[in-house]
Amino acid sequence: MTAVALRDVSLVYPGGTVAVKDVSLSVADGEFVVLLGPSGCGKSSILRMVAGLQRPSSGHVVLGGVEADDVPARSRGVSMVFQDFALYPHLTVADNIGFPLDVGGCARDERAERIAEVASAFDIGDLLSRRPAELSGGQRQRAAMARAIVRGPRVLLMDEPLSNLDAVLRSGLRAEIVSLARSLGLTVLYVTHDQIEAQTMADRIAVLRDGVLEDEGQPDEVYRH
Ligand code: ADP
Ligand code: ADP
Repeated sequence: MTAVALRDVSLVYPGGTVAVKDVSLSVADGEFVVLLGPSGCGKSSILRMVAGLQRPSSGHVVLGGVEADDVPARSRGVSMVFQDFALYPHLTVADNIGFPLDVGGCARDERAERIAEVASAFDIGDLLSRRPAELSGGQRQRAAMARAIVRGPRVLLMDEPLSNLDAVLRSGLRAEIVSLARSLGLTVLYVTHDQIEAQTMADRIAVLRDGVLEDEGQPDEVYRH
């Protein structure tokens, strides 16, 4: 089953920048696909269209076989992790993680249970009463990832989630993200400009250049040249 499909998707920003040009791409249920390419090639724009934060200028986004163009962001079963973590500074880790549940309306017991569950999956169960300023960069990104999965999304979009972390943290978290995604059965669309990250994490790599899908294949098939 296809979890995410882009069908001939283009995006032209006001002002005329063609950020994405005729991209077609399918991501299977449970697949980990990395969108790889240099800064400015349209990676974030693609994630934003899948998330419903941006409408394609032409073409369609299809989620679980359903055309998503008129489905609002909150109802897509898709959630997103950002490079800069985007945690609320005034909320504790627990309340940051619980925030998407509050928006959706969730019983107290269930809320606490879900928060504990995803926090422990990301190994931050003992940091729940802290605020983001009292966390390391790696712990912040763990909290942001826990928040992203707390509502049990079908699809997780990750936009350079490790770029702000140092090299040691980065390589540890790479393996953790892949194994957690696999154990949760998550479909992941992961954006990076880092070729090593792509090679080590992806089931499949989609290479973008100037808004065009240039190459696509398993890690050992792309970039052999
Ligand atoms: P990437 O994620 O690969 O760095 P983006 O999707 O952010 O690429 O950007 C693709 C192109 O679209 C770039 O040329 C960028 O400058 C342009 N762009 C991105 N966001 C906007 C925007 N809100 N308005 C106008 N142009 C944008
Ligand atoms: P949406 O339109 O779906 O609400 P946003 O881009 O506003 O998406 O937010 C994406 C995520 O970042 C959400 O999980 C939200 O809780 C979080 N977020 C948004 N703005 C802030 C902010 N100023 N501080 C902390 N977290 C934020």
